[in-house]
Amino acid sequence: MTQGRTRVEVALPLPIHRTFSYEVHGEAPLPGTRVLVPFRRQERIGWVTADPPDPNVQSIKTVLGILDEVPSVTAELMELCRWMAEYYVAPLGIAIRASVPAVLSDVSRDYLSLTGLQAGVLSAREKRLLEWLSDRTGPQRVKMARKNLGIGSIWPEVRSLIASGYITHKTVTPPSPSVKTRRVVRIIRSLENLLERDQAFGRATRQREAFSFIEAAGNSVELARLTRHEGFSRGVLTALTKKGLVEVVDEEEIRDPFAGAPTGTAIRHTPTAAQQTALDALVSALDAQDPKPFLLQGVTGSGKTLVYIELLREALNRGRTAIVLVPEISLTPQTVSRFRAHFGDEVAVLHSGLSSGERYDAWRMLRRGERKIAVGARSALFAPLEDIGVIVVDEEHDSSYKQSEAPRYHARDLAVMRARAHGAVCVLGSATPSLETWHNSSVGKFSRLLLPERAGGGSLPSVRVIDLRAERKKEKTGSGPKARQETRGSGVLTSDLVDAIDVRIARSEQVILLLNRRGYSSFVQCRDCGEVEQCENCSISLTYHRVTQRLICHHCRFETIAPSRCSRCGSVDISFRGLGTEQVEQVTAETFPDARLARMDVDTTSGKWAHQRILERVGRGEIDILLGTQMIAKGLDFPRVTLVGVINADTGMHLPDFRASERTFQLLSQVAGRAGRSHLSGEVIIQTSLPEHYAVRAAVTHDFESFAARELSERESPIYPPHLRMINVVFSSPDQRLALRAAEEAASWVRAGLAQRARAGAPGQVELVGPAPAPIEKLHGRWRWHFFLRSESPRTLGTVARALVERQRLPAGDIRVALDRDPVALL
Ligand code: ADP
Ligand code: ZN
Ligand code: ZN
Repeated sequence: MTQGRTRVEVALPLPIHRTFSYEVHGEAPLPGTRVLVPFRRQERIGWVTADPPDPNVQSIKTVLGILDEVPSVTAELMELCRWMAEYYVAPLGIAIRASVPAVLSDVSRDYLSLTGLQAGVLSAREKRLLEWLSDRTGPQRVKMARKNLGIGSIWPEVRSLIASGYITHKTVTPPSPSVKTRRVVRIIRSLENLLERDQAFGRATRQREAFSFIEAAGNSVELARLTRHEGFSRGVLTALTKKGLVEVVDEEEIRDPFAGAPTGTAIRHTPTAAQQTALDALVSALDAQDPKPFLLQGVTGSGKTLVYIELLREALNRGRTAIVLVPEISLTPQTVSRFRAHFGDEVAVLHSGLSSGERYDAWRMLRRGERKIAVGARSALFAPLEDIGVIVVDEEHDSSYKQSEAPRYHARDLAVMRARAHGAVCVLGSATPSLETWHNSSVGKFSRLLLPERAGGGSLPSVRVIDLRAERKKEKTGSGPKARQETRGSGVLTSDLVDAIDVRIARSEQVILLLNRRGYSSFVQCRDCGEVEQCENCSISLTYHRVTQRLICHHCRFETIAPSRCSRCGSVDISFRGLGTEQVEQVTAETFPDARLARMDVDTTSGKWAHQRILERVGRGEIDILLGTQMIAKGLDFPRVTLVGVINADTGMHLPDFRASERTFQLLSQVAGRAGRSHLSGEVIIQTSLPEHYAVRAAVTHDFESFAARELSERESPIYPPHLRMINVVFSSPDQRLALRAAEEAASWVRAGLAQRARAGAPGQVELVGPAPAPIEKLHGRWRWHFFLRSESPRTLGTVARALVERQRLPAGDIRVALDRDPVALL
């Protein structure tokens, strides 16, 4: 009875490193088609792969439904996903899921219900989940529970509560993604002359009027407009329909939140000589076979955008399409309007701030070829475009291009891969390229194009360093802490910075102040016993937020009320230490009572366009001083900003991460780049306790190359990327000993394998470093141990990592392993 059935291989978005065989009635759907399949008593969405199915599978299950008419993943993107899965050592289904709009893989319709059983001994998190459920009536979505409770992963709790009978679980079949429609009346037979009209309408004037109205509106009008606003009755429209003149149809409506955004006027500057040289190289690459990727290294304000836009124009002229990636934080209506001004409705925007319906709409327009340019953050790299001519990655050094969960891909590196598949020109733009990209351009893998000067007439700002150690000495030898309270700036803003701000305010120019640490105080410490208040779930000190009077963990969002006594010894002598943006705001407001102030950090920008609204006020000149975290460092182009102050350059310098210096240099250079972007000249003041550090010194002189040279030599010993490749392997468990044991067992398994490889004379060396506790030893209630795999051979590194996830057996219990290849953060 198996006649008329075909086997297919299906990739499921589950953390299982294999695909599964199923049967379908009739012919196999094309690879990339979504199917609904039974899996471990649940229904799951998966994708048909191009792999031959395993003929040996015995009890084969049947596909429950085919969800796509046309494959939701094109053959080309399937290939990219396969590469991504392979390289990042992730399951294919997880890689595919990362590449499509969330609505297409929405399986999070898992519902939980209480059984009514009285709870016994439970963990704190299990208790919270049960309480949350009992506060509500009826089954609740797991996704909501996770959101409401602010718990990163809730499944361990769900599973253990199901096992002990306190709750039940049900998965509801996902509906097909909703398409928004509107009802329109459309002319299907035109009436060429008066005679035809008279024959059709006779004395039915309203019909004649309605018909003319629709004609005038471009042969199609929304039904509601005709009936409600124009007052045509249903009867009139029915008559027109009966006469075969019009039809009433449901037209797909496209949700586009940027549609109403101002498009700006398309100013076409004449390219500078440097811009023109870069452009010539890029355009000729567009017509070349398999062009090399480009690094477009242009100082802040050098006009990289103009180069992108003119290149896109050339690609479109050749009938090709394009992708522009920008860091999440820079994806504002302002940025979008710069592209819309030139390309209007050719542009589709993919943004995480969009609702999933809006994202899906943008995606479909690209898929149907109705939009030629995709602009978006990381995942826009997967825009379903055909014949791509250009892929731009702006601010290529930005760490938001790395996805922090599986498949942990780096969009910049995938951009290079995808461009290669299309023979497209890949442009990586930055004022402060990542050392990886810099290295690739130094060894000739990438071509380098330079924009050494600012384009709009401005010049790079002068940068001054204030040594905070010297300032503190002055304070001490001065008149003591009392004086400190009374000096303007309260020891947060040095007198030089205060003076510089005074000057700008007097001239009604604008100031940007950066401190890359939010909250009021980054830790709370007892003066008597030294205890620092820590998060319950993480080995992290809690940040004091004055606005809400709470202590908050910036990693897991655990919150508690700010204590008035020490939690260990009960002392009331508690100090709030470590400067945060809230405190800078307070001090700045006290120091400059007449200035109009805005603070921009995660806490003030939670709403959908909150970030944008603050920037609009700055743009309209309603703000004198904008202060904030790294959010304010990127991409802002405000001509009246003439002073940038860095409150403390050292906040990120001591992090146990080999990229700490690189990040500091990038941040300082980027924020400095906000000053003096017009004819008004700019100044930057950096307050630091490390004035001699090479990252600070290079930022002062705007000297990327000397920074890169020094940093490359720093990374020789101990050796770090870009001199080799590495994978961070992290084991985590609520049980500290289990995390350690898993890491140790895996490490010895790998070491044994490596020794065997070496004996067999296999090519490529891989080294294992560790295991050791991760820098943040406990996170979200899980203890973390890790080790590094490093190698000069990407291929061998991949082989070893894959063997580890596929063959090594983890100890029993709640233990997870995460592989992060080419990590951008090691915490
Ligand atoms: P980047 O992204 O390299 O920091 P932008 O692309 O934002 O720089 O350009 C900086 C400013 O210079 C913008 O205000 C832009 O309008 C202006 N600009 C760019 N190219 C030219 C040009 N060729 N002539 C005049 N102004 C230009
Ligand atoms: Zn925490
Ligand atoms: Zn104490």
